[in-house]
Amino acid sequence: MDKSIKTYMSQAIDIIKNSKKIYIASHIQPDGDNIGSTLALGMALKKMDKDVSLIKVDHIPKDYLFLPNIELIKEYDITENVDTFIALDSSDMDRLGVGKHFALKANNIINIDHHISNTNFGHINIVSPTSAATGELVYKLINEIGIDMDKDIATCLYTAISTDTGSFMYSNTTYITHLIASKLLQKGIDIERININLYQSRSLERTKLFINCLNSLELFMDNKIGMVAVTQQMLKENNASMEDTEGVVSFIRDIDSVEVAVLLKEMKYDEIKISLRSKKTVDVSKICTKFNGGGHKKAAGCTIYNDISKAKKLILDEIMMALGD
Ligand code: 5GP
Ligand code: MN
Repeated sequence: MDKSIKTYMSQAIDIIKNSKKIYIASHIQPDGDNIGSTLALGMALKKMDKDVSLIKVDHIPKDYLFLPNIELIKEYDITENVDTFIALDSSDMDRLGVGKHFALKANNIINIDHHISNTNFGHINIVSPTSAATGELVYKLINEIGIDMDKDIATCLYTAISTDTGSFMYSNTTYITHLIASKLLQKGIDIERININLYQSRSLERTKLFINCLNSLELFMDNKIGMVAVTQQMLKENNASMEDTEGVVSFIRDIDSVEVAVLLKEMKYDEIKISLRSKKTVDVSKICTKFNGGGHKKAAGCTIYNDISKAKKLILDEIMMALGD
């Protein structure tokens, strides 16, 4: 383990050991890494007999409802009494949604993340952009504390790592990722059940929306840019919700000529959530930072407060510029 990460982890462990009331939260529009890491750390700290609460900051996508103890993630009233707040997988404070209010009340903020754009907002920052998932860092932390990694914790961490690596396919996957995955398999996790829940349970509504999305594909710059837009109207027509767009943007990136894939999600008329994916050269995190977003080199996001046609133009101009470099 990186020496500075090890040092920050031991400082974090001291704080955790001396804390009574701990809150854990992740970011809005949560994904598998957020939810898996939150549940795993929550279950581990409960084994230390800590009073730990897992804050629900946003709707939990259906895909993750199979995870053990998912009901532990729930809404809490804001309180004065927060010894320690642990932020997981969130690159800045604003991404925490309601969790930010708990963070601001906390005596200590421990920030555990792997986004290159992390703002180091914690008192202790365990930030490692070379980790494939926050779940890898949580795995290491649980081991450093010396808590027994049971099957439920392993299931949540495997989900965190599998989802953030595109089933161990993306370039963020390292030998350490596989070493950790093998340790998790040793805990007797049901990999068939996990994979069916994560990757083979697409509803018919989601499938129809997917087809609709693919029909809206636009290509630019000799087919190097692939763009898809999902409007509220499309959701209504397919009886689907925005979380059903999961997987669309990586599908577009899989087209042989595509270097940058763009998904525009019309959350409201003038609020367009953008997901970017790149294949080899373009740093999409840099592009998203220009719109106050962030993420990783090959997977990032931001929100543009404009109508969908203006948002398309704004993001396209930036991508074209990046590809022209
Ligand atoms: P997605 O496109 O799946 O929503 O997100 C891809 C990656 O970019 C994730 O790691 C996510 O945390 C990050 N990301 C997405 N949207 C934003 C945003 O608005 N701000 C920041 N800082 N990161 C984002
Ligand atoms: Mn992550």
